[in-house]
Amino acid sequence: MSATLETAPVARPQIRRNQLLINGEWCDSVRGETFATYHPATEEKITDVAQANAEDVDRAVKAARRAFEEGEWHDMDARDRGALLLKLADLIEQNIVELAALETLDNGKPIIDALNADLPLVIDCLRYYAGWADKIKGDTIPVRGNYFCYTRREPVGVVGQIIPWNFPALMVAWKWGPALAAGCTIVMKPAEQTPLSCLRMAELAMEAGFPPGVINVVCGFGETGAAIVAHSDVDKVAFTGSTEVGQIIMRDAAQTLKRVTLELGGKSPNVVFADCDIEAAVQGAEFGLFFNQGQCCCAGSRVFVEESIHSDFVERLVDRAKNRQLGDPFSPATAQGPQVDKDQFEKIMGYIERGKSSGADCRTGGGRWGDKGFFVEPTVFDNVTDDMDIATDEIFGPVMSVLPFREFDEVIERSNKTFYGLAAAVWTRDIAKAHSLAAKVKAGTVWVNCYDVFDAAAPFGGFKMSGIGRELGEAALANYTELKTVTMSLD
Ligand code: NAP
Ligand code: MG
Repeated sequence: MSATLETAPVARPQIRRNQLLINGEWCDSVRGETFATYHPATEEKITDVAQANAEDVDRAVKAARRAFEEGEWHDMDARDRGALLLKLADLIEQNIVELAALETLDNGKPIIDALNADLPLVIDCLRYYAGWADKIKGDTIPVRGNYFCYTRREPVGVVGQIIPWNFPALMVAWKWGPALAAGCTIVMKPAEQTPLSCLRMAELAMEAGFPPGVINVVCGFGETGAAIVAHSDVDKVAFTGSTEVGQIIMRDAAQTLKRVTLELGGKSPNVVFADCDIEAAVQGAEFGLFFNQGQCCCAGSRVFVEESIHSDFVERLVDRAKNRQLGDPFSPATAQGPQVDKDQFEKIMGYIERGKSSGADCRTGGGRWGDKGFFVEPTVFDNVTDDMDIATDEIFGPVMSVLPFREFDEVIERSNKTFYGLAAAVWTRDIAKAHSLAAKVKAGTVWVNCYDVFDAAAPFGGFKMSGIGRELGEAALANYTELKTVTMSLD
């Protein structure tokens, strides 16, 4: 953390890029269309950003195709691809305060989180995949007869990457890292609420020396994303966002049989047993839900608490929720900023009203904070039942549901009673109970006595309707490679 950050708010960053990046050149959209992006803490316009339509997407795909099939990137040694990723990570590190400030400006997240969580994970992720670039390899296969059989892992080709607004820079790194390590070329669409950090990272990628056409950025709304999915020359689509849009993408991609990986929503159970370290569990529940204003796909939004500690636990939790400091996200003292936009704010307020009218106890929060910006008070509902909307739907805001339980088998069954399966957590001192829950819960990630612990090396993704495929780790390389089998006669 820089010295300035500890004492004073970080200055608002200058906006260097607001155009599209196609074939290494910054350009307006062919029709000259733009859209505005806003600072969610003040609702002030930040800047206008070029809005890509299907024609712009086509230009970007053509550039990506050329860069994939011929020229510098096509001929580049894997080691040199790794070196470019390392260079990009270094440039991001050198500009970390500016990038964190862009993230805070565009998304509204506290500067302290952008600087201490998002950006370090970005840098780590790029360095991790830099290391993989020259380690992607095939096998030799013992086949029947006098043949030499081997496999090659080849880059899948031109990849479309569509990302959400909750971790804008981090989602860029999760997508670019494995795709570039594998040798693919990219057409990326950042979310319309938060294009700025992606554009700045693309500028740094050009500075690092990625050849023109390897990384293209087309900003816009859902239609821009849909144009990428529909394009016949895009080989693969990687999407992070809502389950609803994930379904649309999978359906649309069927037309051209694109490879599809999806990282979607969740309603993750956070299970607290009576034998846990209660203070650690309370802090874990607070962090697991309120971090990033509750805008996490893996948010621990169903907190199951064993009956014997239920009232003590809720008292402590409410206390912590009440003490969360809301305010200007540029202030280093702020723990919670605004929601990303008005739509999200209204959706969340709607859920809070439904929670109240369905009979759950709203123990703290439940309203708007302040009179400007999209701030929502940290809200804790107690005595929530499984069938209430606040217990079944992804709210994507600072709204926690506490559900008391009695038995181990009961909590497993209730945890799994959802079409989501992204993450889960368990708090207990009993290791058998912890491992048993980890095995029985249907979720792609299980945290034991911790929450939201991410590492570039550890795969992340969903069971059931929380997604298809895995991000991060060695697993993500499979998203960006095709396996080719070569059989040669030795006669
Ligand atoms: P979203 O609609 O799923 O958006 C994610 C990305 O997909 C954005 O870039 C979006 O463009 C784009 N998109 C939308 N429609 C598309 C289409 N037909 N084809 C291709 N791309 C398309 O998410 P949202 O509207 O921002 O948020 C809605 C809800 O999604 C949230 O309340 C939350 O529950 C969930 N969500 C989940 C995650 C996650 O990490 N799993 C992240 C964000 C949101 P636009 O910029 O125009 O939306
Ligand atoms: Mg949307």
